[in-house]
Amino acid sequence: MIHFVGAGPGGVDLITVRGQRLLQEADCIIFAGSLVNPALLDMAKEGCIIHDSAKMTLEEVIDVMVEMESQNKTTVRLHTGDPCLYGAIREQMDVLDEKGIAYDDTPGVSSFCGAAAAINAEYTLPDVSQSVIITRMAGRTPVPEKENMKSLAAHQATMVIFLSSSLLDDVQKELLEGGYPEDTPAAIVYKATWPDEKSVRCTVGTLAETARKENITRTALIMVGGFLGTKYDRSKLYDPSFTTGYREATK
Ligand code: SAH
Repeated sequence: MIHFVGAGPGGVDLITVRGQRLLQEADCIIFAGSLVNPALLDMAKEGCIIHDSAKMTLEEVIDVMVEMESQNKTTVRLHTGDPCLYGAIREQMDVLDEKGIAYDDTPGVSSFCGAAAAINAEYTLPDVSQSVIITRMAGRTPVPEKENMKSLAAHQATMVIFLSSSLLDDVQKELLEGGYPEDTPAAIVYKATWPDEKSVRCTVGTLAETARKENITRTALIMVGGFLGTKYDRSKLYDPSFTTGYREATK
């Protein structure tokens, strides 16, 4: 059996209880070494075989899984954050299906949640934005043209930009061309929930300059939108004059 597991954003105590148990029980762990906190590997049992997938191809990862299966052993494939975002799990699952190898998936705390927590932010403020666009800048890995950053920026919703901290000149240009005013609040969160986490607030117009000044070129999320500002409406859910399925209006 192969268990895909979300490692969480970095902090070792942010893996789920289920993920921790699977790590403790695994005969083999293949972890995404570029971003998974290696301290999580301390949970492995003695004799556990450990591979860093940062140095492996898909074929090599699959070879390890197949070998473990042939010995009736349990493998944990440990992905950063939640495996469902930029995790490249589908291509592994499809090969496992072809080979008739069983697997399951345990979610994790995605870094976009860890980064919001790092700056005590709420992405979906009433009357500011009720949508979160998760995307990345096209670089060596392309993004379909129909979802280019400029067109997504036109919504002026909350945006969380992954995998793009080395491309901030382009990000900034596209966001501005897409319609965000220069002074739209923005934030850069580096290594959210890790011991060396760092966050800086800036504006869309100063994103690239801010990252340069702070020396941030990787492992960061870029957040953009009015949710980082000061104006919003209070929620209806907790408004005394609003009746909900659980509570009658009192005023
Ligand atoms: N599946 C992961 C994302 C993997 S893509 C998740 O759910 O978080 C890798 C990108 O995620 C990095 O380039 C960076 O943009 C972001 N990232 C991962 N961990 C991060 C962290 N702790 N702090 C800030 N950004 C992080």
